[in-house]
Amino acid sequence: MYGLMMKTPLLTSSLIAYAADYHGDTEIVSRTVEGPIHRYTYAQAQARAKRLANALLGLGVRRGDRVATMAWNGYRHIELYFGISGLGAVCHTVNPRLFADQIVYIVNHAEDRFIFADLTFVGLLETLRDRLRPVEGYVVMTDPAHMPATSLPNAICYETLIGEQPEAFEWPALDEDLASGLCYTSGTTGNPKGTLYSHRSTVLHSFSCCTADHPLAASCREVILPVVPMFHVQAWGIPYAAALAGAKLVLPGPRLDGESLHELMERERVTMAAGVPTVWLGLLQYLADTGKTLDHLDNLIVGGSAPPLSLIEAFEGDHGIEVVHAWGMTETGPVATTGRLKRKFQDLPLEARHKIKLKQGRALYGVEMKIVDDAGHSLPHDGKTAGQLMVRGPWVASAYFGDEAASAAAFDAEGWFATGDVMTMDPDGYIHITDRIKDLIKSGGEWISSIDLENAATDHPEVAEAAAIAIAHPKWGERPLLIVVRRDGAEVTGAQLRAFLAAKVAKWWLPDEVVFVGELPHTATGKVSKFELRKRFADHVLPDAR
Ligand code: AMP
Repeated sequence: MYGLMMKTPLLTSSLIAYAADYHGDTEIVSRTVEGPIHRYTYAQAQARAKRLANALLGLGVRRGDRVATMAWNGYRHIELYFGISGLGAVCHTVNPRLFADQIVYIVNHAEDRFIFADLTFVGLLETLRDRLRPVEGYVVMTDPAHMPATSLPNAICYETLIGEQPEAFEWPALDEDLASGLCYTSGTTGNPKGTLYSHRSTVLHSFSCCTADHPLAASCREVILPVVPMFHVQAWGIPYAAALAGAKLVLPGPRLDGESLHELMERERVTMAAGVPTVWLGLLQYLADTGKTLDHLDNLIVGGSAPPLSLIEAFEGDHGIEVVHAWGMTETGPVATTGRLKRKFQDLPLEARHKIKLKQGRALYGVEMKIVDDAGHSLPHDGKTAGQLMVRGPWVASAYFGDEAASAAAFDAEGWFATGDVMTMDPDGYIHITDRIKDLIKSGGEWISSIDLENAATDHPEVAEAAAIAIAHPKWGERPLLIVVRRDGAEVTGAQLRAFLAAKVAKWWLPDEVVFVGELPHTATGKVSKFELRKRFADHVLPDAR
């Protein structure tokens, strides 16, 4: 017997319509590429998203067409998120930090018909335009006063484009399983792979973001600053979730340095901010250098890569701000776990609580998780046994867009997605990453976790950043090399660092050598590029093999 309840489709347009109707005067504040701060309301955002939808129809955009964006976090990008998907087209957020060849690949693979770009990226697109075959025209996200002379074909100014359009537009009643957004993962090998979000997955992910134990726990009482870019995994879904909650949004535009973030956080009374560890380390450094404080921030969400313990200690201990750890991937919607502590852990001593917070969190409702060995057998949840994390759920990808080979490799017959992350899971369900499968170091037949080594190294007060990679070794197969960036003015030596590590990791894990560099290479999404490091140190010979 079926229930007798309405089958209202879950659509992204319903999120902005709700925000406009019930939180119509709540603000969206943006630092613009042009410089000044822009502020308006959800009601105005929806009105302009509707004008944009009319403009897109005028350009000939139809349901299912891919329309790309290359833009910072700002109000016009919000209009594109809702306007493109609300119409039934697919909002393809292109990450401008990818290598040029990767951008060319994904725009061609996605068959983007138009690209909407911030002023910052006009020059980049001009160098690529002849290779971006399917693109019929470019829209520069600015006003006529700032419209540059450009060699981009069929270039239009955003404000001119939507300025001519009526506000009247009925969001169409779409099938909730239609695609709403497209994001490619950078990948360190092979071509980038596309995750095609649906309206349903996006709305369910947004609901999840508004539950009390979610890292975001979005509500209309919060002022949320997504530092994580809207061109990378939809800024962790925050633009859509904030609309569902009716939360005030603060968008940092291109300025992600400590000083600019601090200024925006204090002026707009930001209560919750989300970003990768690198960004928060920059903010911490700024606070330490200036003695300034954060008077409104309650929660700091960190994810995308593993935060060092020192980050959690500094924000919680020195600044009284709760750090909440989250794990996710482009393919998982993206947020799949929450690091919020269970009730039984809340009275533990600080050190014990921080130890739990260092873990990547536990599955959110809706996301199923298991860890498996090489043969695909489930492993115990004892907090010790490590295996590959497999996930499935209503906002997890079921295949890659237009890539059968990559899909066959990543999705199994029971619908589980193989994450490539090696994890332990404890009896309470908290997962702890030990490595990416391809980054593990195998020494004498046993695994060494590069992430554990790196975390132990960054606990040293004079280490700014560290990466461990495998170097071929005649006796052991592979041995770890630790590549370190010292903090400004620090003088720590390799021997001192090895002695420091000796108290933290097994003796046979100690890196054979520590190399100091000025900076580490990063991927387009701000993670240390092990791929680049392995290339750079491909011919490196360790001391005892020299
Ligand atoms: P992306 O799809 O670009 O967001 O990258 C996803 C990958 O980032 C995951 O598979 C992890 O390897 C890594 N990652 C995400 N969140 C975390 C976290 N909290 N700690 C450690 N690694 C993470």
